[in-house]
Amino acid sequence: MNEKTESVNTAACGKTSMSIGVCYFPEHWPEDRWESDIEAMADCGIEYVRMGEFAWSRFEPEPGQYDTAWLERVVDLIGDHGMKAVLCTPTATPPKWLVDRYPEIRQTERDGTVREWGSRRHYCFNSETYRQETERIVTELADRFAQNPTVVGWQTDNEYGVHGTLRCYCDNCSAAFGEWLREKYGDVETLNETWGTDFWSQHHTSFDEIEAPGHTPTDHHPSRLLDYYRFTSDRVRDYNRLQADVLREANEEWFVTHNFMFDFTELDAFDVGSDLDFASWDVYPTGFAQSKPESEQTAADLRIGDLAQTALHHDLYRNAADGPFWIMEQQPGSINWPPTTSQPAEGAMRLWAHHAVAHGCDVVSYFRWRRCQQGQEQYHSGLRRADGAPDRGYHDAAWAADEFEELAVGERAQPDPSVAAVFDYESHWALEKVDMGPTFDYASHFATVYEALRGRSVGVDIVPRDADFRAYDAVVVPALHVLDDEAADRLAAFVRDGGSLLTTARTGEKTPGNQLHPTAPGPLADLVGATVDNHESHATDTLETTVEYDGDTFEYHTWGEWLSPDAAAVVGKHRGGVGDGRPAITHRSVGDGSVTYLGVWPDEALADAVVTDVLAAGGVEHLDSPLPDRVQVAERDGLTWVFNYGAHAVETDLPAGDIVVGDATVPAYDLTVFEGAATDITVEES
Ligand SMILES: [Zn+2]
Repeated sequence: MNEKTESVNTAACGKTSMSIGVCYFPEHWPEDRWESDIEAMADCGIEYVRMGEFAWSRFEPEPGQYDTAWLERVVDLIGDHGMKAVLCTPTATPPKWLVDRYPEIRQTERDGTVREWGSRRHYCFNSETYRQETERIVTELADRFAQNPTVVGWQTDNEYGVHGTLRCYCDNCSAAFGEWLREKYGDVETLNETWGTDFWSQHHTSFDEIEAPGHTPTDHHPSRLLDYYRFTSDRVRDYNRLQADVLREANEEWFVTHNFMFDFTELDAFDVGSDLDFASWDVYPTGFAQSKPESEQTAADLRIGDLAQTALHHDLYRNAADGPFWIMEQQPGSINWPPTTSQPAEGAMRLWAHHAVAHGCDVVSYFRWRRCQQGQEQYHSGLRRADGAPDRGYHDAAWAADEFEELAVGERAQPDPSVAAVFDYESHWALEKVDMGPTFDYASHFATVYEALRGRSVGVDIVPRDADFRAYDAVVVPALHVLDDEAADRLAAFVRDGGSLLTTARTGEKTPGNQLHPTAPGPLADLVGATVDNHESHATDTLETTVEYDGDTFEYHTWGEWLSPDAAAVVGKHRGGVGDGRPAITHRSVGDGSVTYLGVWPDEALADAVVTDVLAAGGVEHLDSPLPDRVQVAERDGLTWVFNYGAHAVETDLPAGDIVVGDATVPAYDLTVFEGAATDITVEES
């Protein structure tokens, strides 16, 4: 343990201008412990205490018999200690009596398996009964706390879609899907035409006959699937809106948020975010890193997580709603749910809190206050141990809170990037099942381009396709697979007005109905000045995957296109193999701006080379050379953080006078903060 940690361990951390919070489950502890817990929270500078998640069976032990007095006593204690309460609707865990009374609220998996009561998230979003029960319990709770000055806002439900629970295949969902399609298409022949149902005898005669796409011998019709994925996301948005409306009706001053999660691509966060005051998300870096294939996981991943994964989600959820974002659950130490339970590196919990704040987070709330002795999460640590003594996360949280006060981060404006990256859920859904490239994962392809931007110290807003691009100098649009005229026109206007646009392989292949455009990139072909002549996927490295770009050779993988330019200049060509000499990358000046089309899935070096040229074309400041692996830089209102998620120290060229936290040498799993811009720095491996 280093010296600074020890110095904080010995003292309460005091109040901070940056808010920190904690998730507390008073129902897990005897009442005579509540006051000492809450006193200790206040001593640590905690401002927000989140509660009530999963507590339906305590709020309503029997049908219609409500008991919220216990939580009112806790809320009062929190208020007495100068803190604020954030309450949660308990709808992620309908109690046993409710499931027994209405068994039709349970979810059904694609193969017909019913998800039984006994864990969580077992309800169907399309059960009208469950929607009525939701409205009833949320109304009851909202009314009981509407006049309580300590309660400042609500979290709806918990992590919509965790455990793969967004998409359900029950009879409720089949009926609701048919109605959703009727609403969308009006008459069934329009649906037949939009989907293209002459294939394999899939013509529909009525909306009533259309079911949720259950288990079949081979692939479902891709258009049916895409609409089903749209439908499931839409219906969760509606379900969330139901809750938000009830809460705002009770007290219009309350904020309403939802805690999203890592890699939750089945739910359109921008869509749900439109009904929230701000988005929040739950950050568990050592767990997320284990989503990678085991062969790709490093010791650093297991100690601190993957830097780019965490940064990307900060930038996504910062833009998912109008407000700034919160971390509703910050990993406090070791956690129970990944395949392996590693101990985070020394200081990791402090590093993660800084990382969120540097990306614009307003409140870092740790999950949970105390390690729990009962139930499914006994092996999940807390800021405090099960016996109440401080654990590793407590010391890190206190350390970070001290530093946030010194840095006055709570008074700093949000990051203001000049680059946007379009994340398109519909394209992700359309690419989930594709014959032409089983390894083409939209989110990974997006991350390749995103990481190249971050590698040059460039801040990024992750935005939907209908964002206002006029606020940016450069926009990157990886694999905008589903493309209509409206989106293409907006991107063309951005370029003509002086923007620098990068779009990549598989853009504009599909219509909104998920049929092929006659040529790719579909309605963007005129702007790009080229079409895709042919393409191939690469499941392995067997085929030749070399391109020449700007006089150098690079590798690509997974996907390659042969381009056929008309108005565009060829700036990259395939080298070797059957495609030798064919165009792979084009560039074209249009109006006051330019557009680059990258027709392969680039390796890291090619992504860096192309992205750097796109930044230069847009006049975006960036580093002259890329940052080392596992190092990123983030700027917020005059302060810049250097994060080292690597197992070895890195060297910066920062003058001592500019540094406000740390040192010019950034140790492994550590950080440095300086006054200045993200491009005022060079970083090299030691
Ligand atoms: Zn269902």
